[in-house]
Amino acid sequence: MKNVQWEQLKRTEFEQYIAADAVVIIPVGATEQHGRHLPVNTDTSCCYAIARAAAERIEDVKVLVLPPIWTGYSPHHMQMAEAAGTISLGFHTFADLLTDVAACVYAHGFRRIMFLNGHGGNTALVQAVRFKLGEEKQISSVHCFTYWTLPDVPELMQSISETDKGHIGHAGEFETSLQLLLQPDLVDMSVARWAGTLGDPTTATAEKGGKVFEAVVTSLMNVIRRYHAGEYEDSRVCRKVI
Ligand SMILES: [Zn+2]
Repeated sequence: MKNVQWEQLKRTEFEQYIAADAVVIIPVGATEQHGRHLPVNTDTSCCYAIARAAAERIEDVKVLVLPPIWTGYSPHHMQMAEAAGTISLGFHTFADLLTDVAACVYAHGFRRIMFLNGHGGNTALVQAVRFKLGEEKQISSVHCFTYWTLPDVPELMQSISETDKGHIGHAGEFETSLQLLLQPDLVDMSVARWAGTLGDPTTATAEKGGKVFEAVVTSLMNVIRRYHAGEYEDSRVCRKVI
């Protein structure tokens, strides 16, 4: 398996990736309560695994994946009773963190930088950071995608959904399915309830998680190719590609 992890390269090894106009993915997760049955690293785990799988499988474009941003924007989960574990940054801290990380990647010569978001509460902020990077750093080529809205993924989720009507929700059918695939030892289905979550985790299966994972990774690989080919250039408009 080729190594796609940014943090494992030596300083002399980046040059080949810069010369190849590599796509650099910054996974953006969260540490946030996910009901009684899922670990608080659920969002980070999902987007990081997806980014790494796409980077490892794609042959025609060089891709590097940064260590995931594990602190997201989750103020709505800090006040919940009997729901410890959330670590949320403030609004401006989170925006500045993403700005600084992307600006460092850019400073080394990378021009194709992509945030891959895995937490609903981050979505608007991550998209807005694109404008912030343009305004403050004159960096206009960064793109952002949220994994469950990548092309073809909503349709796949809709087609296999039994209870959540295809929505990602929160600790519901699909996040639980993905965690049964990715971190089964950290999932406790005996306490999975349709309460304190957004969606119904009881219909989750690892098989369903596998279908979603494959659809997301395939779609992300296509997006990486399109981004590398210049398809999104001069697009300063934040948009969901669906
Ligand atoms: Zn989540």
